[in-house]
Amino acid sequence: MKVKLIFDPHPVLRQRAAVVPLPLSKEDETILLALMKYVKQSQNKEYAEKHHIREGIGLAAPQVGISKRMTAISFPLEDRLVEYALVNPVILSSSVKKVALHSGEGCLSVNEDHPGYVYRSNKIMVKAFDYLQQKEIQITAYGFEAIVLQHEIDHLNGVLFYDYIAKDDPFKELTNAEII
Ligand SMILES: [Zn+2]
Repeated sequence: MKVKLIFDPHPVLRQRAAVVPLPLSKEDETILLALMKYVKQSQNKEYAEKHHIREGIGLAAPQVGISKRMTAISFPLEDRLVEYALVNPVILSSSVKKVALHSGEGCLSVNEDHPGYVYRSNKIMVKAFDYLQQKEIQITAYGFEAIVLQHEIDHLNGVLFYDYIAKDDPFKELTNAEII
């Protein structure tokens, strides 16, 4: 299966995606694997240049026009690889303490620049079915990993990163937030 990205303001990016039945159907499995393949290929410099694609660390099904609650994530963090192929992820808890990237966020579905801090919870607990581990898992994530998970789960709810940027003061500093 070859995935084709859709871009903001495509209406599918603003829909609430459908819960995916488990065990995964062959069709849904194929979609999820294709999402992961895209993320991995986007990180291969030669491949990305040749195919004119941007590097990504996560991709959710709505970003390829499929309104289902699935997302693939892969990126190196310190000495480990953070990699999940999640189905029906749910955020169980979110810290009051916030975190934002100093560079702001980007998204494979959003071509325009939207400068500003995107404040998210610094720590979250997520429950999901992980296709890679073939079981229901709980993830406790902090900082950058928590940001990526929240960004991807937002895609399943029709939310884009720039929705969070304060229009009157995009780089507003919060007292309970860390900029990383
Ligand atoms: Zn995105």
